[in-house]
Amino acid sequence: MKTSGIKDHRQIGQELDLFSFHEYAPGAIFWHPKGWIIYRTLQEFLRNTTLLEGYLEISTPVLIKTGIFKKSGHLEHFRENMFNFQIEDQAYSLKPMNCPESAIVYGSQIRSYIDLPIKLSEYGILHRNELTGVLGGAFRVRQFTIDDAHLFVRPDQIGKEISKLLRLVIEVYKSLGFKPRFYLATRPDKAMGDVKTWKEAEKDLEIALKNAKVNFGIKHKDGAFYGPKIDIHIKDSHGRDWQLATIQLDFQIPQKMEIFYVDKDGKKKQPVMIHCGITGSIERFIGILLEHTQGNLPFWLSPVQISILPITERQNREARKIYEKLLKSGIRAEFDNRGKTLQSKIRDATLQKVPYMGIIGDKEIGSESISVRTREGKDLGLIKIPEFLKKLKEEIDKKI
Ligand SMILES: [Zn+2]
Repeated sequence: MKTSGIKDHRQIGQELDLFSFHEYAPGAIFWHPKGWIIYRTLQEFLRNTTLLEGYLEISTPVLIKTGIFKKSGHLEHFRENMFNFQIEDQAYSLKPMNCPESAIVYGSQIRSYIDLPIKLSEYGILHRNELTGVLGGAFRVRQFTIDDAHLFVRPDQIGKEISKLLRLVIEVYKSLGFKPRFYLATRPDKAMGDVKTWKEAEKDLEIALKNAKVNFGIKHKDGAFYGPKIDIHIKDSHGRDWQLATIQLDFQIPQKMEIFYVDKDGKKKQPVMIHCGITGSIERFIGILLEHTQGNLPFWLSPVQISILPITERQNREARKIYEKLLKSGIRAEFDNRGKTLQSKIRDATLQKVPYMGIIGDKEIGSESISVRTREGKDLGLIKIPEFLKKLKEEIDKKI
């Protein structure tokens, strides 16, 4: 493992003007414009990928009566990690997880066995109490967002849906340059529910992992108190191991939240709930990605994708036209018309980790082209504008 010389995501965030922290809000991130572009672009990618898999997005309250977590069983196990307070003699909490609220949306109407699986996704803002002493950048925060999904399935659909989820996770990670590793986490000593249901659920997960043809390890007694899970890890470019996604089977919340579907025989039955967050916390994931790439984010995720650099003021007018053309084509371009030398503009764009620099001089204007240079210092030469636009769009589509 080579960790010396690795920049921390807080340092990268500051150098690239992505986000900051302030003593007024310990454990919460102030996103700056460029950082927020990364956040939204990543979220949009996750949203589009899950929509294709039949997920429906919801949004539920952040401030909610504590009673819901008493009903779901979370309060008993999770009280110290929650922000709880009184409003007008009523106990309220900031939600530490989205699960019980998803169950409320599911339970808002009568569901039939043919409606299942129902897959609800949510980018819910969560709060969990951590001591200020252990807060650290985007990795230990009090406020964060999970790219959460709750699948409500019939027991006979568990295997198939877990397999689909595994494929989805592998595909998303591949687009982000990571190869996932899988672990099956089994029944802890302090588990809720009967042993037989646990064993069946562990078997379901094991079969799904085998069907997905992935190698996996076992984490003995490391399941959540309400069901077994599959933990998904990655290794970053510095050889460090991170646990990101979790696929969690749950037989308890459906029971506690009293949700059901009407089966073929007309009887009310309990759905099984599957919890899944692909990146885990979006904030933490961006932190990991920044350290993994040391700020050299892939083109599609870079807040500024190209910097247009006129060589002298004489080219400003034509260079601006090219800049506007790129913006209209959906490319995140910036226009550097400061009266600095070309060398210093290139140095600044390189330090800001802008993937491409488009240099515009008389030669370029005469040939309706652009001289392209990469942040790695590679000279791609003179490229016609339409051809260059096509190349950029391909890079966005292929997530390069
Ligand atoms: Zn959940």
